[in-house]
Amino acid sequence: MTQLADLPIRDDLRGKTPYGAPQQPVRIALNVNENTHAIPDDVVEDIVASVARALRTVNRYPDREFTELRESLADYLGHDLGPERIWAANGSNEVLQQILQAFGGPGRSVLGFTPTYSMHSIIADGTGSRWIGAERDEDYRISVDTAVAAVERERPDVVFLCAPNNPTGTPLGLDVIEAVYEVHPGMVVVDEAYAEFAPVGTASALTLLPGRERLLVSRTMSKAFAFAGARVGYLAADPAAIDALRLVRLPYHLSALTQAAAVAALDHRREMLAMVDDIRAQRDRLLTELPRLGYPVYESWSNFVLFSGVDDPRRTFERLLEESILIRDVGIPHALRVTAGTEEETTAFLEALGRIG
Ligand SMILES: *Cc1c(COP(=O)(O)O)cnc(C)c1O
Repeated sequence: MTQLADLPIRDDLRGKTPYGAPQQPVRIALNVNENTHAIPDDVVEDIVASVARALRTVNRYPDREFTELRESLADYLGHDLGPERIWAANGSNEVLQQILQAFGGPGRSVLGFTPTYSMHSIIADGTGSRWIGAERDEDYRISVDTAVAAVERERPDVVFLCAPNNPTGTPLGLDVIEAVYEVHPGMVVVDEAYAEFAPVGTASALTLLPGRERLLVSRTMSKAFAFAGARVGYLAADPAAIDALRLVRLPYHLSALTQAAAVAALDHRREMLAMVDDIRAQRDRLLTELPRLGYPVYESWSNFVLFSGVDDPRRTFERLLEESILIRDVGIPHALRVTAGTEEETTAFLEALGRIG
């Protein structure tokens, strides 16, 4: 049988491993930070109606500029952002890929602070950009000094800041983003996939956009918005940065069906986001209950919690899987990550973990 290594693949992709979060049918899936609440039936009906309307003209290519969706996203984000400052793609992973196609690539480098979202380095690899993993401080935080020192030492072309960070949940101060922007002449990408789960009133990196034309803030409908399966990610940036993404995107990359579904979902943002408070409460419950079971936790501003004190993560992962509960082994020694589920799912996880001991 032919192996991958037998094919004339790009030398820089030899030996790499693809993104591989296990996907298996389980009773309780708390492994990829989805919103585990289904969207309400009346919202589903409206989305179906919107998609049905779009199907009537699906013989034509969709609006390449997805104007209506950009208007809806601008309206959702606020901060005086007009549609000319919004871009979208099939998941924020595609947005990040387009950023590196335009601003990274062969001969260029991307710096991130590890451990961080695994797709950041995978997208760097895929676009032929050199990935530089810089270290974090204690408890996975990043201070202004640490961030500035790494950027000044490595002089990357692009800096990725994950705020809050996946897989650790760690918040990131706006002062760090400002300081990195000051010393770094290249593009600064802030991945705010979990922004909606931050404490109420937390300022987003969106507030830093005015006057910073090299700053890009990416968001997604996959997490808080309960829309992971629809694949809609987006970003806010200076219109010139968005013009750069137009050079690398495939024409008509967002299907008419995706655009119709996303616009309808955004019309129901209140219902779509209704579970965010509940998810925050379940996350806070994990933060309180896991230490009681003997597992120290890391601060989290997201919808998941990284906990440590696990003797053998592989074994604990497998024991939970035997009970049809799927969480995530992110490769950090003695630690595992769990997504905040519904109240019942979170309870089932905590009970099972307590039993396993
Ligand atoms: C889940 C996640 C994303 C979302 O990816 P999509 O392609 O929008 O589903 C982006 N960034 C981080 C840090 C994530 O954890």
